[in-house]
Amino acid sequence: MSAIDNLPPLREVIAAHDLRAKKSLGQNFLLDLNLTAKIARMAGDLTAADVVEIGPGPGGLTRGLLAEGARRVLAVEKDARCLPALEEIAAAYPGRLDVLNADALEVDWPAHLTPPIKIVANLPYNVGTELLVRWLTPPAWPPDWQSLTLMFQREVAERIVAAPGSKAYGRLAVLANWRTEARIVMTLPPEAFTPPPKVSSAVVHLTALPKPRFEADPEVLSRVVAMAFNQRRKMLRAALKGLAPDIEDRLLAAGLKPTDRAEQVSIEGFCALAREVA
Ligand code: SAM
Repeated sequence: MSAIDNLPPLREVIAAHDLRAKKSLGQNFLLDLNLTAKIARMAGDLTAADVVEIGPGPGGLTRGLLAEGARRVLAVEKDARCLPALEEIAAAYPGRLDVLNADALEVDWPAHLTPPIKIVANLPYNVGTELLVRWLTPPAWPPDWQSLTLMFQREVAERIVAAPGSKAYGRLAVLANWRTEARIVMTLPPEAFTPPPKVSSAVVHLTALPKPRFEADPEVLSRVVAMAFNQRRKMLRAALKGLAPDIEDRLLAAGLKPTDRAEQVSIEGFCALAREVA
């Protein structure tokens, strides 16, 4: 019996199902169920929410989510070896856990769920940023999800919450903070995982805002920001010269200095520029 439920400790589960971690699938498991329950609590009240978990692995975070009262969990796992362990959890929480053996980059999960939806995951590092960008750029806002509670490498987490003027500030920070409230809620040393990764990790909690902080067309904003940060050492007038022939005038009309660099521009500034070039 474990600290949070009547199921066996994760080390026993891993041994029983021979779940040796695969590097190619970004498998670094959390085995401390008190820690996984704590991460689940960072997602807020789960009792009235459907939770999507990407990459449950042997189910440590899944068990944390269920023990914390999640109404329903849809767990999307690519590695079929994990399915028997996840079925044991489903049996211990009847009707509350569905497992989808699929690639999270290909699955159409909102079809299976009832809002409000919270996404909670200890993400595989190789697909984490791509999934985040997809969740942050849905066809319409507000998105299907209410919040994201996600584990990243610490350096990526810092890029998500970075403020203008800092080295970590870039496309990810603009994308995230334009339409969500994003903060780091926990940091974890490598030893928290089995096997330990090379770097520290952090959990970021992002809450979807009802509407963007500043008006802008998402596609134009995305293009402007990508171009500006692609050549982040260049002045804006040089980095963005492909956007419009009169880019200096448009920068000035947006209240920006043509000689500034991308990392000095606030989200409000990028949105003003996106409106000018739209
Ligand atoms: N949630 C577990 C935990 O906290 O211990 C495992 C986390 S481990 C960092 C990442 C998990 O994502 C692994 O179980 C891996 O098999 C799974 N995974 C990797 N790529 C995936 C993909 N494209 N779609 C779904 N799951 C994936």
